[in-house]
Amino acid sequence: MHTSTFDILRCPYCGGRLDLVTSSFHETEGDDIHTGILGCQCCVFPVVDAIPVMHLQPNATAARELVEQRKPVAARRAMFGLDDVPEIAERVDALMASPDATYRQIVEAFGEHLEGGYFLYRFADPTFIVGHALVRAVAGTVLRGGGRAVDICGGSGHLTRSLMDLSSSPPVLADLYFAKVWLARRFTAPACEPVCCDGNSPMPFARGAFRFAMCSDAFMYIWTKRQFVLDMLRLIDDRSERATPGAAMISHTHNQCTWTPSHGQPLTPNGYRNLFENEEPRVFGESGLFSDVVRGGPLDLSRVDSETTLEAEQALAIIASRHFGMFVPHPLDSPPAQAIGEFRVNPLYVAEFSDEDAVRYRLQFPSEDYEQEYGACREYLLPEVIIGHADLQALAHGRVPPGVTELVRRRIVVDIPLGYGV
Ligand SMILES: [Zn+2]
Repeated sequence: MHTSTFDILRCPYCGGRLDLVTSSFHETEGDDIHTGILGCQCCVFPVVDAIPVMHLQPNATAARELVEQRKPVAARRAMFGLDDVPEIAERVDALMASPDATYRQIVEAFGEHLEGGYFLYRFADPTFIVGHALVRAVAGTVLRGGGRAVDICGGSGHLTRSLMDLSSSPPVLADLYFAKVWLARRFTAPACEPVCCDGNSPMPFARGAFRFAMCSDAFMYIWTKRQFVLDMLRLIDDRSERATPGAAMISHTHNQCTWTPSHGQPLTPNGYRNLFENEEPRVFGESGLFSDVVRGGPLDLSRVDSETTLEAEQALAIIASRHFGMFVPHPLDSPPAQAIGEFRVNPLYVAEFSDEDAVRYRLQFPSEDYEQEYGACREYLLPEVIIGHADLQALAHGRVPPGVTELVRRRIVVDIPLGYGV
């Protein structure tokens, strides 16, 4: 962690500022703290592999003791939850030390110790494309004049990646799962500022530290929902006179009125609204936003979904903002002409036939479960596509030839992080 993070970091329990405890074991390089102990008035927290661990769950306590005993590698294993499985821990350690290891290899080495899910397909699934469009529109609006973003419960940083060029300082990625934020910093959202913390505790950040705070695909699993939302509003509460209004956004949260796989403990649309107290958040059904994205935009945040519409939705998005430019139609970003990471044919496609001119690909789902949960991607992924070798070569060099722009827009060709391993 960079020492400038002390400006926004606060103890989740006493709210106090933190400092490096220089009398304890620490490893620093210039302004970066790689290993150490942070102290406030009430607690001590470890920094493991340059990630501050701002909670007191048993793995964090074990890691803190190991740092104090000058055992940084063992502390990392404790944070990964691998201290009881030495063969897996050794394999993961070796991969992490290797510059050629891929995201996929590391996730696979963790096996059941890390919930990897359908990460290979993440950048093209319907939940992601709506989340991405919302981030670009909402964060894009409030961060236009500067300001920082935080992705809370952001997992391995797939949507943090969508924030990278919008946040004036590196976006903060906060999640309870240390392995996920570790992977995000290395692969998915390099240069983000990872913080390991518990979404069911007060957030370890100062009031007004951010102009945009979000939580996607996780809020239904939070038990302390009221505390979480009020804390999100605290994080974007900039009291300075000329401050641009910020935004708090909860996207892809399930709906108590309908059943969904991996349901969590969702609220009704009105239940979510009530969490925001004096703010007047807008609640959107995800399916309307999804149609906007599939159609090519604009993402219409001026819409007012009726209560009947909202009650029938599987997933909801909630946005609280006093920015005058928020609840209007937002054009979608044009598909990138240059890769940020690298272009790949979506791994949901299998190459079926190749001749000297082109390759024919067919859409094939990895499992029935995937198809059931994410089958809506059929609305933008064509059943079959043919891509010329010359176009494939240009894509391999990070360029989008004119005839391929539509394939990028449809996510048949995806821009994935370097070293992702697809
Ligand atoms: Zn404290």
